[in-house]
Amino acid sequence: MQTEPGGTLIACCMAWILLANFSSGAVLQNAQRQEATHQDNRPNIIFIFSDDHAVQAIGAYGSRLNQTPRIDELARTGMTFDRCFCGNSICGPSRATVLTGRHSHLNGFMRNGDRFFDAQPTFPKLLQNHGYQTAVIGKWHLVSDPVGFDYWEVLPDQGHYYNPDFIQMDGTRRRFEGYCTDLIGDKSIEWLERRDPRRPFLLMCQHKAPHRNWSPHPRHFGRYPLGTIPEPETLFDDLSNRSPLLGTAEMSIARHFYWGHDAKFPGENEFPDYFLSGLANGEYQRMNEQQRAAWDAYYGPENDTFLRQLRQGELTPREITAWKYQRYLHDYLGSVAAVDDNVGKILDYLDTNGLSENTIVIYSSDQGFYLGEHGWYDKRWMFEESLRMPLIVRWPGRVAAASRSAALVQNIDFAPTLLACAGVEPPPEMQGRNLVPVLREAGRAPDDWREEIYYAFYENEGAHRVPQHDGIRTDRYKLMFFPSTKEWQLFDLQNDPQELRSVHAEADYQVVLAELQSRYHKVRQQYCAHSAVIPESRWGEAWWRERYDAKLREAREKTADIVLIGDSITQGWERTGRAAFDKTFSEDSTLNLGFSGDRTEHVLWRLKRGCLAKQQPRVFVIMIGTNNTGHLGQDPDEVADGIREIVNTLRGAAPAAKILLLGVFPRGERADDPGRINNRLIDERIAALGDSEHIVFADLTSLFVGADGKIAAEIMPDFLHLSPRGYQMWADALQTLLKPLLAR
Ligand code: CA
Repeated sequence: MQTEPGGTLIACCMAWILLANFSSGAVLQNAQRQEATHQDNRPNIIFIFSDDHAVQAIGAYGSRLNQTPRIDELARTGMTFDRCFCGNSICGPSRATVLTGRHSHLNGFMRNGDRFFDAQPTFPKLLQNHGYQTAVIGKWHLVSDPVGFDYWEVLPDQGHYYNPDFIQMDGTRRRFEGYCTDLIGDKSIEWLERRDPRRPFLLMCQHKAPHRNWSPHPRHFGRYPLGTIPEPETLFDDLSNRSPLLGTAEMSIARHFYWGHDAKFPGENEFPDYFLSGLANGEYQRMNEQQRAAWDAYYGPENDTFLRQLRQGELTPREITAWKYQRYLHDYLGSVAAVDDNVGKILDYLDTNGLSENTIVIYSSDQGFYLGEHGWYDKRWMFEESLRMPLIVRWPGRVAAASRSAALVQNIDFAPTLLACAGVEPPPEMQGRNLVPVLREAGRAPDDWREEIYYAFYENEGAHRVPQHDGIRTDRYKLMFFPSTKEWQLFDLQNDPQELRSVHAEADYQVVLAELQSRYHKVRQQYCAHSAVIPESRWGEAWWRERYDAKLREAREKTADIVLIGDSITQGWERTGRAAFDKTFSEDSTLNLGFSGDRTEHVLWRLKRGCLAKQQPRVFVIMIGTNNTGHLGQDPDEVADGIREIVNTLRGAAPAAKILLLGVFPRGERADDPGRINNRLIDERIAALGDSEHIVFADLTSLFVGADGKIAAEIMPDFLHLSPRGYQMWADALQTLLKPLLAR
């Protein structure tokens, strides 16, 4: 385990004994709420979060494209972070990281469409437990219902710009007439109006805008007229001198722009050589008569002019792409303009109500976006435009006005920072660092600050077909790795800020490459980004999928006293060990979550996917890891990380449950079997997880191994799996170990 100095542990996989206090917390919560009185002058926090708002479209970041006066006002009175990056450039994963302070592979939300594992600590939960009133309004996009909020009202999935639906706290959906960005601003202020003024608050005001399909309010039609918007230098980038994988992505303005959804043409696609068919403009279909009339009045004549030119063959392919860019940016920047208006609406409310002085206001967005750079729209890549996040923080009296920070910061830092602002100690499993010292020191990072950020994108064949990749970015360089082709890419941001040439193969950069590769491996270990911890499904195997579904149903239907977690050896209680199990545990309700062939990463996938349902057993029994040894000969440190993370996850999901953590069973006939040795090394590392309170570690090796170090075939016929007699021995041992743990 590594510690990042400065008080925050980078502890990917620490046992978190205190977690019970954070997670279960109803008693604690009530007690602390009672403590909070009108004397409570801890700062309020307003976290304004937009979706896909690139720094290239923010005045305070030097935009050549637009003005954002109200966001810029925040920057003039607060601090602007010039090097804030996401850890995974896509909506849901960035949001999960913001909430948890953990990278995607540990918070479990790695790809859009995953479901947020809500039994883990989040900063809103912790603030709520410490007396804050909490609300989230707007885009959520984590599939699960929000947890840790006194009030929430969120868009289903991506939501809509026009007349959007909002999910209410009772689960119903209500449709609201109007424009989404304005509605989210208004709803935020309505909540501020009715909150309890005696307690500090956290308000997360989260806009859908300016997410695709970029649909402005009529008041912003024509604000950025076609033909006037500057093009990026790389609009016609041929993507040479970089991995061929760049060319496989489907996010090109020239080639992947939809006729209806993106270009906003009605009717059938007339020019399939230049536009994709199949995605209509869903916003248009939601509009009321008045909205539609305004829309037609603006878009109709522009469309007519362009389509006439196209029909008459007057435009070159390059001119067609340039037109698409103008249409795209008109719509994107118009959508940004409404966000800016609504930032202003909240700032005005704070001023009018005397709240500005004691309210921290943050503006950020879940990741950046390509505004035509490299010929693209969308995000996902580790290149600067989508890697960067805006981050502006106003905290009167604490943060110098108009200050800027060049510190390398990341969205893992948001949660520990916001907790620190409220005087709450961040739990050790949060991986980010508290930015308060940077905020207080005019943007200067402490001497021991991180020297690189870590990035990992996990979708592969998902939307837009951007390949899986990860990497690090330092002050000057960016190193990327593509596992599908085992390619490295290296960019020298000082000499090549637009990232147009990978220098990984150039002689002059070989020393830099080697050093960065070494740092990359070190950082991956530091953040536990390795295969024993990164959740992995076996969904492609039909039996596994069916067992998963069956076990999930069982978990939802019963209340188990004992939940067994493991691989084929645990699953074997249902077959070879059936008789021993039934005899020994006839009076206990049990749930067997053993899956043959599973490694730690598969167990983590199941747990973070929610396979426990709401199970709150009295005891978890864990025995896992021998397949990490047997399949991969995996390093025992890494396997131990995986087991630790399983323990952590269970502690979060069922804080009152005890955990019986069994050492990985011995394997191989002889004591010098390499698999036997590896399992023993894993056991040595996980033994320390045992504590006197919640986790009991037990090593049963001596049960199965004779004095000569050999395993007898009548106990383990294949020197890995137990015989019926072996299961009876295990059952007897378990009965003894479980007795005190099951006692009420
Ligand atoms: Ca986004």
